Amino acid sequence: MKKLKLTTKIFLGLIVGIIVGLFMQGVPDIAQTYIKPFGTLFINMIKMIIVPLVFSSLIVGAASIGDVKSLGRIGGKTVIYYLSTTAIAVSIGLLLGKIINPGSGLSIPVDANMAAEQAPSVASILLNIIPSNPLNGLVSGNILQIIAFALFLGVGCTAIGEEKSKPFVDFFESLAEIMYKITAFIMELSPYGIFALIVPVISQYGIDVLKPLSMVIFAVYFGCFLHAVLVYSSAVKIFGKISPVKFFKGIAPAAITAFSTTSSSGTLPVTIKSTRESLGVSEKIASFVLPLGATINMDGTALYQGVCALFIAQVYGVDLSFGQIATIILTATLGSIGTAGVPGGGFIMLTLVLQSVNLPLDGLVLIAGIERILDMARTSVNVIGDTSCAVVVASTENELEPIGEPSS
Ligand code: ASP
Repeated sequence: MKKLKLTTKIFLGLIVGIIVGLFMQGVPDIAQTYIKPFGTLFINMIKMIIVPLVFSSLIVGAASIGDVKSLGRIGGKTVIYYLSTTAIAVSIGLLLGKIINPGSGLSIPVDANMAAEQAPSVASILLNIIPSNPLNGLVSGNILQIIAFALFLGVGCTAIGEEKSKPFVDFFESLAEIMYKITAFIMELSPYGIFALIVPVISQYGIDVLKPLSMVIFAVYFGCFLHAVLVYSSAVKIFGKISPVKFFKGIAPAAITAFSTTSSSGTLPVTIKSTRESLGVSEKIASFVLPLGATINMDGTALYQGVCALFIAQVYGVDLSFGQIATIILTATLGSIGTAGVPGGGFIMLTLVLQSVNLPLDGLVLIAGIERILDMARTSVNVIGDTSCAVVVASTENELEPIGEPSS
């Protein structure tokens, strides 16, 4: 009952925020100055727990799987699920981009110049995963490196056996539990945080600004919806033996938090909480699959990149060959591993996708205007995708528990 109440409150926070935002359309400055800081405070609170949460829960997750063989099996399933659903997502994005044809009838200023800044190459993303100095990775909050180091530690624990690793694992288990508890406190505040985050966005963008690019928005939102309904529903039903309705209900608080924070890393504590408590995924699987997914699994982002790549190709009259389409699928799928689960992370990686097939980066200027709106949908899908994987892996490993009795 209490759980239901919080979900309803979060939803109300979102709806009331949208309505208030629409009323404040003429005065976005007021929303920015007086309402947004509360949203920022909420995000900071969530961010505060990310590094200790990811680090501790992955060590515990990897260490508690029992033996290196099972770890390899569960890790293998997780990565295969993540990469294949991401490849499907970018293909849906490309297909919808083709069918909906959002770029038709649009022309953009050619002199606009957006630098191909920051987007790293796929090779450098993969090379940088292993930190030469793990403490540096921890301090600077480099999540991929933190994950890699935590996995090494977890595997090390498993390899030396329970007796020797127990004190170390116990410490991190306790740290992870404390982080889950802090999450629960922060969640109580989330309806207000979500309200404060959504008001400035709606008051700034309003409805009119969106019209010229409404087809891109439609394609991304519709694609996200399709991907969730087709891929996740079937996955949880077929492999997870959970009804899609129950699945989406259970994940709703995390999806709404993702929608308003536009950060899968930021949503991670909520994702773990919902996945364990509402869907019955064991701690062992949740603490391994979800932190990994919040960083390397970005289905919504890949889908958005597919739509946007096609949109930009259409605006510039470029006909993409079959090889180029395949390149986009590969780059977006691998690039999603290196996409940070933070607001706008996928936008930076979009430059990588465009570069891979020589599409003009100028087109990014257009997308930039609706970036936040697109980020909201894709981040929700990113998070729902992580949870669907947790459900599928947990079910195939016999790790789905009766709901209402999360392991702790
Ligand atoms: N904001 C997204 C996330 O955190 C990443 C993106 O920009 O696509 O999952």
